Amino acid sequence: MEPRIERCPRCGVPLYIATEHSWLDSGAIVQTHSPTVRPYFLECEGFDNIWRKMEILSGLPLEREIIESKRRNVKIYLLRHFPDRIRKALEKREIDWQPLNFGLRLIARLAGYGRYEVISYQNRGDQDDHITETVLHPISRPLACGNMVAAFEILFGRALDVTYRDLEEDLLEITAFPSPEDRSDEGGARMYFYRPGGVEHTRCTECGVPEELGRFRWNTELGVVWDTNTGIRMAIMGPELESLFRELVESHGPDFARHIIQATRDYSLSAFRNLSEDPEQWRKEIAIRGLGEVREFTFYKGGAYVKVVQAGLHHVLVGAAQGFFENIRGYETSVDWEYTEEGSVEIEIKPKNLLSQSTP
Ligand SMILES: [Zn+2]
Repeated sequence: MEPRIERCPRCGVPLYIATEHSWLDSGAIVQTHSPTVRPYFLECEGFDNIWRKMEILSGLPLEREIIESKRRNVKIYLLRHFPDRIRKALEKREIDWQPLNFGLRLIARLAGYGRYEVISYQNRGDQDDHITETVLHPISRPLACGNMVAAFEILFGRALDVTYRDLEEDLLEITAFPSPEDRSDEGGARMYFYRPGGVEHTRCTECGVPEELGRFRWNTELGVVWDTNTGIRMAIMGPELESLFRELVESHGPDFARHIIQATRDYSLSAFRNLSEDPEQWRKEIAIRGLGEVREFTFYKGGAYVKVVQAGLHHVLVGAAQGFFENIRGYETSVDWEYTEEGSVEIEIKPKNLLSQSTP
């Protein structure tokens, strides 16, 4: 039987989301009970386009790397919620994995990851063990694969590989099966340490989330959340997204950061055509997404200077700022940025034609 999903009677946000997540005045979202864990609330439907664009720009196949990073970092995160004795019992197949998987699938739906269903499985400790699930409305192919394989490495207590195929548009079938090799489970997202900030969210008087969240629609049957302003699909993305972007830059060098920024900028350009031109609105939108506090957004010399403190996913932010600017001004720009140890990012956007005039 499907459990009843309780929602806030005023803003409609599922109470699970409202109680487990806190939107802070620093512009970060944290997990209420683990406040060093920093998730994000992001446009998820653009991710497969962003990966593809990054592949074109870098000339590298990235899918396996994204699946592996997601697997490793989600697993590290999930392990904290599985006490050792449960993990051991799962490994020895002394307890049933299915109720635990049911809980994980439900959380996935509430977070907006689509609807996972078990299609077939065998978990006997044999080489031909497997688990096949379908995902209706997956957020992204490699991210969906990475999530599922991370969960089943814990539920089946062994290293797994994964394949997928598209059954229909928006219906993915993922199979995980024993891997011949054990892989590293090192890594994990950086911890977030709160510092007070100046973001003033108007709060829902019933559940305490920013009132602005009331404009998002949560279809908890399908696991789909969308923004009624933009029509774009959203999801609560885990802190492993930070690790994923950081690891991509670490393994492919600093130039790769440019690819992340350009891919995000291109996506922002097409996705946010109708966003208000008011930087104050952009500041609010950034804070709702948990990407930080926009301290400054100044237009000058045909470009802009932007400073975001306690910035999350700073490469994504740089691309989003550039895309936002180009959308309202209608011309191409170049961008530079500096990210500091304390987590601030300063972004300088310059018109491209101005740049070419000043360059000898
Ligand atoms: Zn509410």
